[in-house]
Amino acid sequence: MGLTGLAGLPPSEFDHKHVLHPYDNPISSGNTFLVKYAEGVHLHLDDGIKLIDAMSSWWSVIHGYNHPKMNAAIKEQVDEFSHVMFGGLTHEPAVDLVRQLLELKAGDFSKVFLADSGSIAVEVAMKMAQQYQYSIGNETKSKFLTIRSGYHGDTWRTMSVCDPDTGMHHLFKGSLPVEYFVNQPPIAFDDEWIDDESLNGVGELRATLEQEQDKVAAVILEPVVQGAGGMYFYHPEYLNQCRALCDEYGALLIFDEIATGFGRTGELFSADFCDIDADIVCLGKALTGGYLTLAATLTTDKVAEGIASREPGVLMHGPTFMGNPLACAAANASLQLLGSQDWRSKVLNIESQLRAELQVALELPNVTKVRALGGIGVIEMKHVVSANQAHSLCKHLGVWLRPFGKCIYTMPPYIINRQQLTKVTHAMIELAERL
Ligand code: PMP
Repeated sequence: MGLTGLAGLPPSEFDHKHVLHPYDNPISSGNTFLVKYAEGVHLHLDDGIKLIDAMSSWWSVIHGYNHPKMNAAIKEQVDEFSHVMFGGLTHEPAVDLVRQLLELKAGDFSKVFLADSGSIAVEVAMKMAQQYQYSIGNETKSKFLTIRSGYHGDTWRTMSVCDPDTGMHHLFKGSLPVEYFVNQPPIAFDDEWIDDESLNGVGELRATLEQEQDKVAAVILEPVVQGAGGMYFYHPEYLNQCRALCDEYGALLIFDEIATGFGRTGELFSADFCDIDADIVCLGKALTGGYLTLAATLTTDKVAEGIASREPGVLMHGPTFMGNPLACAAANASLQLLGSQDWRSKVLNIESQLRAELQVALELPNVTKVRALGGIGVIEMKHVVSANQAHSLCKHLGVWLRPFGKCIYTMPPYIINRQQLTKVTHAMIELAERL
């Protein structure tokens, strides 16, 4: 039918009929708000309503919207060039970014792949691990071990390491690779570590790695904070033990820090809560301050030398928009902004305010738990909460919140002030009361 008769539809109506949104019904899509302008922590809608973005646009806009330094960096780069292919060519924005990342990330990291989204960064990490094992003669090590309730992306291989029940495994059963799952680490971040492998989850990890050691290329997990799988915070000691087991059974360790990187947890990276680090780390989301899509996969000389040591000797990945200069310029500006301020105090202040103000939610009959870590605050409900119902209350609350599963949560921009954050916590509590 083409667009005949539709061209004159107002944007919201056209959107409803033709634009597909994330995880939405392709025929009868949910209601969407039309954003006309965004500034600081605020989204300005077409009907004149202003909402505090308590989601930081899916956890990425850490410095807020329309930041003059971020805007200037992108405008400067656009006047030079917006994109060039990365095969055989390079440019200063990419070189500067890799330099900044390697300076920020402690440990043995020395090589960086600039991917075009978080899911792709994870795909690249998994390819690195598999190619490494193949190159050093471990051809059978081509599977991955992960923990339940994790989330690593929506592309094919990343789906295979998302939680098998809450992820999309059942939908794509038969065509997704089958990986190994162990239970979520049972000891929470705030609880005391128990040195008993049958209680702290390490026993199950050890047994699976031991049994499947000929098949497991790498263990992949979100360190300390499991995000989209349920906003659960677990004890960092699990990761120290996991590192030792990976070394014992010849598996690489991949940390997916796409959600946790760049200060969100109160540490620059979640790995900083531990005594160890991974062999491969994925970064994304806040990397560009939420301005443009870019992610990075970092690895060590050991992995790089392994991959290079056997035919074809190259890492088999190369997207068209790899290392996009505009995105690199945004990332460089974002990292400079982060480095030029006391982000840690800001995030830790957010944490203490979230802890204090969300506490009252525990008195509500449908609330089971409340937790906060860094710039993440969560009210966990007894039941699954409808994002669409929450949506319909957002304008009345003046706050943009999009719960998932049983979690009503916030990950606000780091620039949020006390008053604005109080408005967010009140909105979360009101949702917990009403949904
Ligand atoms: N890994 C983690 C831990 C994530 O939270 C996400 C996104 N929520 C991804 C990977 C995928 O990133 P993207 O949406 O940029 O593909």
